[in-house]
Amino acid sequence: MKIIVCVSHVPDTTTKVNVAADGKNIDPAGVKFILNPYDEFAVEEALRLKEKYSGEVIAVSVGSDASKEAIRQALAMGADKGILIKADKSDTFAVAELLANTLKTQGADLILLGKQSIDFDGMEIAPMLAELLDMPAATVVVSLQIEGSTAIAEKEVEGGKEKIALSMPCIISAQKGLNDPRYPSLPNIMKAKQKPIEEIAATASAPRTSVIKMDKPEKKRIGKILQVDGNANAVAQQLAQLLHEEAKVI
Ligand SMILES: Cc1cc2nc3c(=O)[nH]c(=O)nc-3n(C[C@H](O)[C@H](O)[C@H](O)COP(=O)(O)OP(=O)(O)OC[C@H]3O[C@@H](n4cnc5c(N)ncnc54)[C@H](O)[C@@H]3O)c2cc1C
Repeated sequence: MKIIVCVSHVPDTTTKVNVAADGKNIDPAGVKFILNPYDEFAVEEALRLKEKYSGEVIAVSVGSDASKEAIRQALAMGADKGILIKADKSDTFAVAELLANTLKTQGADLILLGKQSIDFDGMEIAPMLAELLDMPAATVVVSLQIEGSTAIAEKEVEGGKEKIALSMPCIISAQKGLNDPRYPSLPNIMKAKQKPIEEIAATASAPRTSVIKMDKPEKKRIGKILQVDGNANAVAQQLAQLLHEEAKVI
């Protein structure tokens, strides 16, 4: 089975991210970048399927040279090779288009992604790829089985789970709970350094969106605690007055 895993290189949630001087981008200074955590579930699932059915796992990323780190992480977990589609500036659709243009030439049986990248939280790439590659897709998947040329995916839906069958090749985006991703062992980290990463020049149309402004979240306003001293009516009155005059919600 030939499995492609799309991996993105994202800022670690534990590092402090600031907006760059132009007010439109993240300032990368001092920011630690990691393999997108949801992509770890996708890589792990690909490796388990390879162990069961044999085949090949290829990690593909769109980005600058720095994105090779995300590919190396996937290689250290056990992927066989990597592909870096080199792009300096992009938006979500352009990333999907770049991925689709390369994936069309790969003839994969299965394309795995994370359910979302933790930087822009788009949750868009998987459905965009499905449209561009004319393949069925299941997103937010928590369980995956292969039966012949059919993938049986269980996905999270509001208040429950949905089990669906997809004809292969197909696209699956991984949700937390799909598996427990393995930690790369030291020998595998060393081996990953020898594994090939092919570099491909970008072949997508220009980005269709541009960022106008980027802001950090507003600091949380301090809450107000009303003292209840047995007179519930007075407290209710005070609360209604605050909601009306200060919060202006009633
Ligand atoms: C070179 C480059 C420059 C960029 N520059 C800017 C910028 O200047 N300003 C800005 O606001 N945004 C920029 N972006 C971010 C871009 O606009 C998207 O937001 C980003 O690629 C992820 O999209 P998303 O959050 O919609 O992904 P989602 O749809 O949430 O991601 C779902 C899954 O898609 C896959 N995926 C996502 N991104 C990639 C990727 N790059 N390669 C391979 N697989 C991927 C992963 O499996 C991920 O788990 C840039 C991206 C790139 C690659």
